[in-house]
Amino acid sequence: MSSEFEIIRQYFNQSQSPSRADVIVGIGDDAAILAVPEKHQLVQSVDTLIAGVHFPIETSAADIAYKALAVNLSDMAAMGAEPAWFTLAITLPNDNHKWLKEFSSSLSLLSNKFGVQLVGGDTTHGSLSLSITINGFVPIDKALRRDQAKVGDKVYVSGTIGDAALALSAWQGDCCLENESIDFLNNKLNRPLPQINLGLLLRDYASSCIDISDGLIADLEHITDMSKVGAEINFQSIPLSKEFLLNNITKQHVLDLVLSCGDDYQLCFTIPKSKQEKFESEAKKENAAVSCIGEITSGSDVTCFYNGEILNRPKAGYNHFSEEKK
Ligand code: ADP
Ligand code: MG
Repeated sequence: MSSEFEIIRQYFNQSQSPSRADVIVGIGDDAAILAVPEKHQLVQSVDTLIAGVHFPIETSAADIAYKALAVNLSDMAAMGAEPAWFTLAITLPNDNHKWLKEFSSSLSLLSNKFGVQLVGGDTTHGSLSLSITINGFVPIDKALRRDQAKVGDKVYVSGTIGDAALALSAWQGDCCLENESIDFLNNKLNRPLPQINLGLLLRDYASSCIDISDGLIADLEHITDMSKVGAEINFQSIPLSKEFLLNNITKQHVLDLVLSCGDDYQLCFTIPKSKQEKFESEAKKENAAVSCIGEITSGSDVTCFYNGEILNRPKAGYNHFSEEKK
């Protein structure tokens, strides 16, 4: 087995990710030294992925690396932050060089795409797991939070909902996918595109924001709980992709996938009515697909309507400590 130093040198050294001017010291010392721009706040988030829990054991190294960084970038998007630096703590079962090479190229591709630099980490031996801590900035007090939604605000989502969940459901053997939709849907599951630009735009418009990782209803409930409000959404306003719709699955299955399953990493956010028109025209200019799906109410629950009738409460979103796992 190569030493951890050898692995770090070969696969995680600075040359793999962009070199930012605000990194005073990156990989190589006991800790990184980083410069936060004036009049900005640091926004930080960590996410851990464990083989067999967050991704199937047979997932490719490239997909694992992509998703680990993408879900962290998505947290930056949900906060309206501009991502800057990340660290990687990785536990490896062996020194499989082919795996490490694929992993590090995929990581560096995505880090270059979003201009985020790998500035440190930790490399240990054990069952495969990885944890990325990401850091970004926002101008002081401009971050998007979960606790500022107000009664009357409109509820929006970006992109299309349910694609990743449908791919996962097919992978788990619950249904078969139509051929023409397989690549599109698997790509949505393995390669979610973090909505960074939309997050930056939302700084000037949204009263609250979250990324959809656990399920639309469960994640919207985080907004309503923290903002002490309720919400009503209309199922038929939720955007579904044509690839999703190609598949002939039961109505109950569609409802579960769209409302209760996660992994899309789209944004769910609220916009005050007074800013709605301007926001929609700005989103159009930036080619950001956004759809209004409902409204914040004075209640305390999230209610979903289908053809004007209230849908029964769908099952809860993903919870690692619940007795019944999906
Ligand atoms: P220490 O023993 O001082 O904690 P390490 O030997 O763990 O340092 O790491 C040496 C350097 O390599 C540090 O700068 C650390 O941040 C970096 N590093 C270790 N593992 C990784 C990794 N997986 N990705 C990026 N940088 C890493
Ligand atoms: Mg040290």
